[in-house]
Amino acid sequence: MNITTAVFETSAVAEQSYPLTPLPEFAFIGRSNVGKSSLINMLTRRKGLAKVSGTPGKTRLVNFFLINGTWRLVDLPGYGFAAGSKQDRAAFNTSAADYLEHRPNLAGVFVLIDSRLPPQRLDLHFLGWLATCSVRSALVFTKTDKEPRRVRANVAAFTESLAEARLSVPDIFLSSATKQTGRSEILRAVDQALGPQATHMRGFLPGDRT
Ligand code: GDP
Repeated sequence: MNITTAVFETSAVAEQSYPLTPLPEFAFIGRSNVGKSSLINMLTRRKGLAKVSGTPGKTRLVNFFLINGTWRLVDLPGYGFAAGSKQDRAAFNTSAADYLEHRPNLAGVFVLIDSRLPPQRLDLHFLGWLATCSVRSALVFTKTDKEPRRVRANVAAFTESLAEARLSVPDIFLSSATKQTGRSEILRAVDQALGPQATHMRGFLPGDRT
């Protein structure tokens, strides 16, 4: 896929403020500091589109970016950040959860996992919860530019942990924003999902409208 335009559309905390036009949306989520902003900037080739954060968990908003005028890339708040008050934390998690549970035009979720770390309980917990959301997902292992052996071991351990938790292993992508790798594979997956889009948007499945 060739990205010709990538434009920030809006930020929202609550569903009432989400964009109205029913374009297919692909969401990106992961633990704070996983490299989500860097990945989004790499995918769109717009350096400052998503803010690369100094403060983990600073962003609590759902950010919508309109891509090529035909689909949206949705930057969801990261989970598990330590900074901020308890109230902040609740609001933060709620806005991502609300989006993932209810957004009818959600076509797929890319869950970002830090390839430098062994399986993290929080990621596995999140994937367990996401499995209840009836939406297609894929894993993107980030920061794969250093220590390839460790990356391979962590990816293998993660898929094993998924199996142990009786969770299915979704498609896996390896990426590095530093080395600009994984971009074409991820965008190809979006392209494929966009094909017969109406049937892939969960809100467009018969009987799925509320
Ligand atoms: P976010 O909080 O998930 O949006 O993560 P950021 O994109 O802000 O990145 C968090 C930190 O990881 C920053 O210090 C980035 O420079 C670093 N980082 C992000 N992507 C990569 C990558 O592909 N390779 C390496 N080595 N570091 C990365």
